[in-house]
Amino acid sequence: METVTVNELTPNDLPWRIEWDPCRCKLCGSCVAACTFQAIQVGVEARSYTYAQGAVPTPVEGERYAVPVIQQTTTVQNHCVGCGICEKTCPNRAIRPQRNVDSRWEIFAREGGSPIKRGGRANLNADDRTFDKIVVGRISQMTDPSLDAERHTFDILAPFGRILPADKMPLSVSKDGKLNLDKALPPVRWIYPLIFGDMSIGALSPRAWEALCLAAACLNEKYNLPVRMCSGEGGMPLRLLKSKYLKYMILQIASGHFGWNRIVKAMPEMQEDPAGILIKIGQGAKPGDGGLLMAAKVAPHIQAIRGVPKSDLLSPPNHQGLYSIEESVQKMFLSMNAAFKFRVPVGIKTSATASSVSIYNNLLRDPYHIVGGYFIDGLYGGTGAANEVSLDHTGHPIVSKIRDCYLA
Ligand code: SF4
Ligand code: SF4
Repeated sequence: METVTVNELTPNDLPWRIEWDPCRCKLCGSCVAACTFQAIQVGVEARSYTYAQGAVPTPVEGERYAVPVIQQTTTVQNHCVGCGICEKTCPNRAIRPQRNVDSRWEIFAREGGSPIKRGGRANLNADDRTFDKIVVGRISQMTDPSLDAERHTFDILAPFGRILPADKMPLSVSKDGKLNLDKALPPVRWIYPLIFGDMSIGALSPRAWEALCLAAACLNEKYNLPVRMCSGEGGMPLRLLKSKYLKYMILQIASGHFGWNRIVKAMPEMQEDPAGILIKIGQGAKPGDGGLLMAAKVAPHIQAIRGVPKSDLLSPPNHQGLYSIEESVQKMFLSMNAAFKFRVPVGIKTSATASSVSIYNNLLRDPYHIVGGYFIDGLYGGTGAANEVSLDHTGHPIVSKIRDCYLA
């Protein structure tokens, strides 16, 4: 079977799509012969059917067979230009070009038909990848090599969850009155050493995004690895919200609040609680005026998930509140905790800035002990999604701020 790549061209990427009606078509071939762009061809597709049999209807797989079809060519060189000659030629009104509102043609044409390059480390063949050189357990050696490595070495455990209540702590009192730690467990309910980062389904692409969801579920179900995935801003498909795999997903709420109407409406039908809620403050990777999802990427499924028309979608640079950003985020934080009855950890994510340590200190001293975690993302091109040239030349804000928080 031919390899399917995430970014291969499909008819839905082209500026014109061919609407072909197999019920009207007599397969005379006139349209194929008339198309000077060779944008359509005669092909063969496999078909199969299932029927019910017996007093208690039991599904039976019927025969498989091949049918001839008129197919649209999906190459840059032979794409349909919408001239309408095929429609004029067809004696049976069985074919016509239709403008594709979700075309990604400009991107593909610019790339000469090769897969879109999305930026980030995967694009370059350089030997010295910045992030690949980071050894997390020896973070101090990288950030401060002159210091004693043993004294400053630490591991990142990424605790995200609720602090265990006293009776659930792995502690016991020995006969001589000493407190013993029975198991070397961190004092939180959930520890996720690996979390797939927060790329929204609209920004990444549905196929790549869903592939990551499947990977997260597979790593948990099959290999027993506690991996979680953050949805990114923009919600997620309804079927995932209602599925048992929701427990591996961290739902993100960001400044655009996209997708949350759907999430709130789906709550009564959720089989599982999500792994967590992450409130993203600001746009770390896209400072300035915030993020923009171009209308060309707002396909029907994105419109459905976000409940928006086809238009440019702006994620503001910060949360919009009546009085202040803090007031808005605080309300959001409390209502998210209350909505899931304090079962689901609610964390905060900010960019790695000089204020990271102050925020961390404040969260640590939360009097209600309901802060689920603190996430730090990159700033000014310092995220994992940034081009390597940015990563190599803007420093490592995440690494240095994690270290600052650790030492706080
Ligand atoms: S509209 Fe024109 S270019 Fe497109 S398939 Fe028909 S004849 Fe070919
Ligand atoms: S010209 Fe019309 S009837 Fe003939 S093959 Fe094309 S679509 Fe079918």
